[in-house]
Amino acid sequence: MSQNLLQGKRGLVFGVANEKSIAWACAQACAAQGAELAFSYVGEPLEKRVRKLLESDMPDASMFPCDVSKDADITAFFEAVHAKWDSIDFVIHSVAFTHREDLSNPFVATPRSHFALALDISAYSLVAIAREAAKLMSSGGSIMTMTYYGSEKVIPNYNVMGVAKAALEASARYLAADLGPSGIRVNCISAGPVRTLAASAIAGMRDMLDVTEQCAPLRRNVHLDDVAGTAVYLASSLSAGVTGEVLHVDCGYNVLGMYAVMPERRTQGAETGE
Ligand code: NAD
Repeated sequence: MSQNLLQGKRGLVFGVANEKSIAWACAQACAAQGAELAFSYVGEPLEKRVRKLLESDMPDASMFPCDVSKDADITAFFEAVHAKWDSIDFVIHSVAFTHREDLSNPFVATPRSHFALALDISAYSLVAIAREAAKLMSSGGSIMTMTYYGSEKVIPNYNVMGVAKAALEASARYLAADLGPSGIRVNCISAGPVRTLAASAIAGMRDMLDVTEQCAPLRRNVHLDDVAGTAVYLASSLSAGVTGEVLHVDCGYNVLGMYAVMPERRTQGAETGE
């Protein structure tokens, strides 16, 4: 593959917490294709971690604080970006949050305040960021966000985050319609389960990984590189005609309507006459 798919392009990356973050894998892949990047971070511990990553891997990249639940932070972030660059070409939104107990208690127990917070940080933030980003995309651009299959079907323990991802995907479609006439594309990457800091909060993450590996058409879990490759595609002109889409990068898991019966189960069934 050519090494300069994103030469001359400038991108913003929201959601790097550490070297295992999906956002970091996407950022590294975009940088390898020639993109210049600026990053957001929240809070002092993450500032140190992101700074360390940039110092070792991307010394020319900038980083600015931004808690996406605060409009003032989003405004200040974009002012800082604008002071550095006149325009940007793409945005990677890879941010989500809910309280840990919401990812193990029954969904029906979700308190109103937790529901509102999860949707604010995990879905509304895309709208607020897209609004500001669009002002710097005078020649068009590409905005992408990370979602998960729990938006479409019930996944044990994913709970309010599934509802937030459904809102995120719908928001991406409405943003695609609003911003399309300005040449700005908005898409979602629906990644299969990956071990990250955020994912460690989901009760039964091990089962999600095991079931995907056993049942997905490709018989494996996704690698960060799989997701990062799709981010490069969405940031580049290769995807110029694609907007409002949810691209599943999940080894094909979402196409299954029923799992294949495991051979050992079939043998048991024959013995018992089931
Ligand atoms: P991660 O913990 O590395 O990233 C989550 C990021 O969200 C962190 O950088 C965190 O700082 C940021 N964040 C949380 N609250 C914030 C706030 N108020 N303001 C700004 N940033 C905030 O985990 P990840 O798995 O890389 O998650 C990235 C995205 O990918 C999330 O949207 C997640 O739902 C999605 N996703 C993850 C998986 C998976 O299995 N890991 C699968 C599909 C989709």
